Amino acid sequence: MNKKQWKTRLKKGFNKIIDVLTGRTQITNRLKFHALIGSIASVHVLLLVIFSIFQIMPLFFFNIFSVLTYALCFWLMWGEREHYLTIYLITFIEVVMHSFAATIVLGWEYGFAQYIIAIVPVGFYICYTLDIKHKKFTIATVSAVFSAVAFLSCKFLSFFGEPLVETNNVALELSLYVFNSLCAFVFLTLFSLIFVFEMRLSSNRLKRQNDILDKLASTDPLTGLYNRRSMDVFLNQAVESASSFALIMCDIDNFKKVNDTYGHDFGDVVLKGIASITAEQVKGHGYVCRWGGEEILILINNASEESSFRIAENIRRNVANRVFELNDKWIHCSLTLGIALYDGKEPVEETITRADYNLYCGKRNGKNAVVL
Ligand code: GH3
Ligand code: MG
Ligand code: MG
Repeated sequence: MNKKQWKTRLKKGFNKIIDVLTGRTQITNRLKFHALIGSIASVHVLLLVIFSIFQIMPLFFFNIFSVLTYALCFWLMWGEREHYLTIYLITFIEVVMHSFAATIVLGWEYGFAQYIIAIVPVGFYICYTLDIKHKKFTIATVSAVFSAVAFLSCKFLSFFGEPLVETNNVALELSLYVFNSLCAFVFLTLFSLIFVFEMRLSSNRLKRQNDILDKLASTDPLTGLYNRRSMDVFLNQAVESASSFALIMCDIDNFKKVNDTYGHDFGDVVLKGIASITAEQVKGHGYVCRWGGEEILILINNASEESSFRIAENIRRNVANRVFELNDKWIHCSLTLGIALYDGKEPVEETITRADYNLYCGKRNGKNAVVL
């Protein structure tokens, strides 16, 4: 790999980290396991160098074995392979074995047993996110119990018998203790961070999906207006709040003829156009719903005769002035609207019937009108 390729690779890696942190990308098992195996393997390479410098040969050889083990883990993730459970178990066994080996060779004071503690929460997190059905918690819990036994066994082992290698080097002992502690803390912090980001990501995703589902359940797909079910809720709220409100029932004039002459698609364009004009005029004053085929029901909150008439008249005028177009054909359309004010006592169905009756009067008297 030349310098340029390294640069692009580093940039890609950096962008990936940013994407993960900002929640743009999902933390896949592949990414997670690369982070886990990559960081543990790097620690072993460092230890390998340290043990070779200080001629601690048993651990030098053990770390060659460890590095090869993690090379095997990388191989188990190569290409399409996804043996994540096997990789986790290999990692767990290696960490425990290495802690034992280091305690036997150098003694308890070097702090190698801390890795056994660090692997416990990592195990829970990893198992929780694996695609296995029933054994997630069993595997993680058994690993945790085994870790506790292994950790204490390391301590007991250090009581009986002297370490195999006496370095008589306090600086080395302290440095390795600090190094091991820091690595254990970094592992815990790193995986806690990934866990938190993953939680945030999945709760954001859930929220987005809920919003989409809410929208799908409450709106009409063609016009984007509220559907009848949502309007029932708004009507109940309006009645319960005991506020004055008006209902406006709208029906497109001669719509059958539009469909028959220009086709159903053209009819849809007209319907969508009228829906958007209506929503625009009612914005901030109440709710608009597609009540039936080409009928629109409007609820105006805190309405008076004047305010509801003004809104209805604005809608009527805007529709009458609009040109509806599709495939080089264009037409004018009109709308008839019937208004009824809720009287504070009657069932709301009665108000709807009165609005409907006014609409019917408007139709009978020549359409393209507002009737109060
Ligand atoms: P009027 O002026 O008396 O209202 O006459 P009209 O032809 O509009 O009669 P009516 O209101 O009964 O017509 C309803 C028509 O609306 C029938 C149906 O084909 C059409 N329609 C209902 N829903 C849709 C739709 O989603 N898309 C289209 N293109 N047409 C629809
Ligand atoms: Mg109709
Ligand atoms: Mg009609």
